[in-house]
Amino acid sequence: MLDQLDIFSDTVYDECGVFGIYAPGEAVAKLTYYGLYALQHRGQESAGIAVSDGDNTMVFKDMGLVSQVFTERDLTTLQGHIAIGHVRYSTTGSTNWENAQPIHKANEYWSLSLAHNGNLINTNELRRRLERRGSEFQSTSDSEVIAELVVRAGRKTIEASVRDAVRHIKGAFSIVMMTEDKLIGVRDANGVRPLALGIMNGHYVLSSETCGLDVIGADFLREVLPGEMVVIDGKGLSSYQLIEKTNPSLCIFEFVYLARPDSSIYGRNVAEARKNMGRQLAREAPVEADLVIPVPDSGNPAAQGYAEASGIPYGEGFVKNRYIGRTFIQPSQTIRQLGIRLKLNPLRDVIEGKRLVVVDDSIVRGNTSKKIVQMLRKAGAKEVHMRISSPPIEWPCFYGIDTAERKDLIAANLTVDRIRTFLSADSLQYISQKGLVSAVSDIIGDGSTNGAAFCMACFDGVYPIPIPSRLKMTKLSLEKAKKAETLF
Ligand code: AMP
Repeated sequence: MLDQLDIFSDTVYDECGVFGIYAPGEAVAKLTYYGLYALQHRGQESAGIAVSDGDNTMVFKDMGLVSQVFTERDLTTLQGHIAIGHVRYSTTGSTNWENAQPIHKANEYWSLSLAHNGNLINTNELRRRLERRGSEFQSTSDSEVIAELVVRAGRKTIEASVRDAVRHIKGAFSIVMMTEDKLIGVRDANGVRPLALGIMNGHYVLSSETCGLDVIGADFLREVLPGEMVVIDGKGLSSYQLIEKTNPSLCIFEFVYLARPDSSIYGRNVAEARKNMGRQLAREAPVEADLVIPVPDSGNPAAQGYAEASGIPYGEGFVKNRYIGRTFIQPSQTIRQLGIRLKLNPLRDVIEGKRLVVVDDSIVRGNTSKKIVQMLRKAGAKEVHMRISSPPIEWPCFYGIDTAERKDLIAANLTVDRIRTFLSADSLQYISQKGLVSAVSDIIGDGSTNGAAFCMACFDGVYPIPIPSRLKMTKLSLEKAKKAETLF
């Protein structure tokens, strides 16, 4: 049993979206629903909302998309003035109802609902400690461990309990929680995952991204700061610096891929950052060509930037089926490959006889790019030059993004030239690490241009929050890559 737990709890990697609102007199469940709708890109596996009316809390969660989980009637029954919500995506092995959030737990003083984005790196250790003290767990998620730590802190106030719990947890976390009468937002000391604070008709709102604020007409106030806890109740908002800020290490992959282009993080619009990456890529990796096309949608802004800076016309070479989700959703390699074909169809009239620059945001395992090149050649492309607006992904993420294990990351196993061969592209170039940082930092203009402001671990292997060696061994191993190489 323990072995099984070990395997699961160390390999449950979530990409999630969280939302919270404290708004007496408003239909908070519906507003949360719309907030989650806007955050759907951060997780498509399960969705949930918890609502409190000051005395009682109701939680409604299920597997599926936001639109599949809730009906109008469900939302009408969720009455109250505080709500939190969660959308979740995780890797295979942990796809079950128990792992859906918000998680709900209670102690003798209050009940707690919790929604978490990020990933802890000391889950097993904490879980074992809690189990020895009699805790029982329903799920394999690290988020339940956090909830258990909070309710077991043995403190009367939620503020003191969260303070205690946060001292023990290591890793990346942006959390929204609520008791019967308080809404709380917390961020880890490095601020790896984003969390925005907004205001709507005088009511406070928390959202993983600003697009969740925009959708309900809330104005952006500020980010919840690294290490900060905000507590919102009838008296307004109180702020506590729970953990000393260390190196700010916002995940740069939020800018590359994860966040929605209309969101802003630290004042930087994500689409503009991506466009800048494209401009930088054109400067770093020019090529003679007739047309720049994106791999939609993730490559769109970067392709526009590339076209603008290179003077090569921009065109749309693919039509995307809007009703298919992200290709990563499908767990198996075969279905994932099919997924790409289901999702994108090349426009022969645009492509035929052309020398193409094809811009995408990232290459993880290499399947998408390989299929793309194949499809374009079949549609008559004369040359295919792949340009990637992130550096090679060589290291796995331990902080809440599913970027596969090291043995499955193509750039950890092959040189750029061998990847090009594997893709059958005429050329392949990635943006440099420095180029990426400057593309994102350029639009901040607050002087935070050095790499330390971002977590770049997936590109440079420098993990701002030290990874325990046992965890490292499982995910960082290249052991099976030798076998995999024959596949590439
Ligand atoms: P792959 O086929 O494994 O190389 O996947 C690369 C594609 O997946 C790119 O087109 C990205 O837009 C997308 N992608 C990159 N990272 C992620 C992620 N963590 N989750 C889902 N999709 C991703």
